[in-house]
Formats: sequence, C-alpha cells, structure tokens
Amino acid sequence: MLVIMKNDATGEQVQRVIEEITKMGYRGVPMPGAQRTAVCIVGNKGAVEESLLLPLSGVKELIPVTKPYKLVSRETHPQSTVITIGDVKIGGGNKPVIMAGPCAIENEKQAITTAEIVKQYGATVFRGGAFKPRTSPYSFQGLGEEGLKILAKVREETGLLTITEATDHVNLEDVEKYADIIQIGARNMQNYSLLKRAGETRKPVLLKRGFAATIDELLMSAEYIMAGGNHQVILCERGIRTFSDNIRNTLDISAIPSIKESSHLPVMVDPSHAAGRRDYVIPLSKGAIAVGADGLLIEVHNDPVHALSDGIQSLFPEQFARLMEEIKYIYR
Ligand code: PEP
Ligand code: MN
Repeated sequence: MLVIMKNDATGEQVQRVIEEITKMGYRGVPMPGAQRTAVCIVGNKGAVEESLLLPLSGVKELIPVTKPYKLVSRETHPQSTVITIGDVKIGGGNKPVIMAGPCAIENEKQAITTAEIVKQYGATVFRGGAFKPRTSPYSFQGLGEEGLKILAKVREETGLLTITEATDHVNLEDVEKYADIIQIGARNMQNYSLLKRAGETRKPVLLKRGFAATIDELLMSAEYIMAGGNHQVILCERGIRTFSDNIRNTLDISAIPSIKESSHLPVMVDPSHAAGRRDYVIPLSKGAIAVGADGLLIEVHNDPVHALSDGIQSLFPEQFARLMEEIKYIYR
C-alpha cells in the first residue's frame, strides 16, 4: 500500500502518517518525489486498515501495490531513480556510464596502467575485484585487502570512481571503506546476510542478477537492500544459463526494458560475463545500449593474455577504444 500525500503536505503531516503506520505494526518508508511525497507501507501481509490513514491531514489517496516488491517497484516511485556519485549520474536517461577494468586487481602496475587506458577512452568508473568468487578453489582468489588498497591508489592517481565486489557480510566492511560502489556478484544475489549488510551501508550497491534467477527474484533481492534503508541500488544483467551452449551465458537483453517497466532503479549490463569471449563483447554492448541500458560494466586488461582471471573475455585496450567509439553512435 502506498499513501500518496498532497503536493503541499508538510513534513509533520508525513511524520504523522508514519507514526500511524508504526502503530499498526508495520513500517512507513517515505519516498520523496519531484511533485509529492509518498509513504510506502512495508511489512503488512494483508490489507491495511484504510480508514485509519485516509482521514489524516495531508493524505491525498491510498494506492494498493500489486507487486511483492515495494520500494523497488515503479508503482511506488514512478520516476526513474538517478544515482549520483561525484560527477557521475547513473540512470534516468543520463548518458550511459562505463565502468571498466580488469576482472581482478593483480598488482599496482597492472591496475594503474589499465585504469589510465580506460579513463583515456571515456570510462568514469574503474572496476577490479579484490575478493574473487572463483568456480575453482585452485584459481586466483584475489589480493583481498591489499587489492582494495591498490584500488584506493587508482582512485587517488586517476580520479576515477571505483567499484569492487564484496563476497560476504564480513569483507563488505572493508569494501565500503575503500570503494565508491559495492558490487554484489551473481553468485551472491540471494546471500541474504550480505544483502542485509548492504542495506546498512550508505554507499551505492550494484546488484548482479544470478545466472539462474528470474527478474522478480532479482527485484526481491534489491528489495532487501532498500528495506534496510539503502536506496542507492543499481541492477545489473550479466547473462543467464540457458540451453544455448555456444556462449558462456545468454545475455537476457529483454530483461532491460522489462526491469525498467517494473522498477525505477537504474539497469546496467555486463556483456563480459555473458559473452565469456572478447569478440562478442562489442556487439553485446551495442545491443545493451540500444535497448536502453544505463551503463556497461566491462572487463578490460592491459595484457589480457597474461591475466590471472577472465583473460579470455577481457578486451585489449584497442578493442575498448573501438567499443567506446561504436557505442557513441548507438547512444546518439
Ligand atoms: C565479476 O564482475 O568479476 C564477476 C565475478 O561477475 P559475476 O558475479 O557476474 O559472475
Ligand atoms: Mn570476471
């Protein structure tokens, strides 16, 4: 249920509505909009007693929310959310934001060299994993906190914003200290202790769709983060498992307009983990921008042949330069 306040409703009137909702045993989450504030009721299982809310001053109307997710839903927040980090704006029809860098931070030289390359061609956020969720326990697991320190150095030296993955609620603590955006990976989309912890941070979170997760499941996971009080959530389609065996994962291109219909949150696309090979990354990126993605998360390495993880799908610097040129035309 959504309580729509009148355009001229005062802060006290909104507060009074929230108190009444609390008395009913639920939670009222204010959602300020361009024209008016709405208060979203969360925690109710069935119908809410409308007669207790409608007469309160400042209340315009009550609207039932039909989806199981509420804070994430476009029903409760019709205008698209824009997440602003420094000079970068993600969502709401702003220019697509390009986050690029290696799968994993391997050492300072590799990170800074790659960061300078991606910055030169127009990326505004540097990606690089420090805690790597690898399929094999024998694969490179990332540098851990040392990787985060290198990430901070990249930020300092290049001025790029940074994103890196937290793989559990314990290392999220470190990630939030060092990075501008916290990534939650596909394997952890339904790690609820991690999602709850991500709800407590005040840094933006990029939540990837699990490779066997439906869109509703992705949105319910985003709801966990928002229900915890963190409204800065960016969703990311990164390919799902299908019967198609000619590609690592199938990029669900229709997920982008579909999520945008159901949710006000920005939607990014990771073409690298969908493709699994670098020659497919440019065409998938163009497709993603064409259907309205708010940005791309791309793996680029200064020396992909010797990368310690996901080298096969990492772009060579010249390929990244070409990609940035080609997507400009698509965006225009
Ligand atoms: C990554 O971005 O490096 C990564 C591990 O992605 P995903 O969680 O989508 O597999
Ligand atoms: Mn990777």
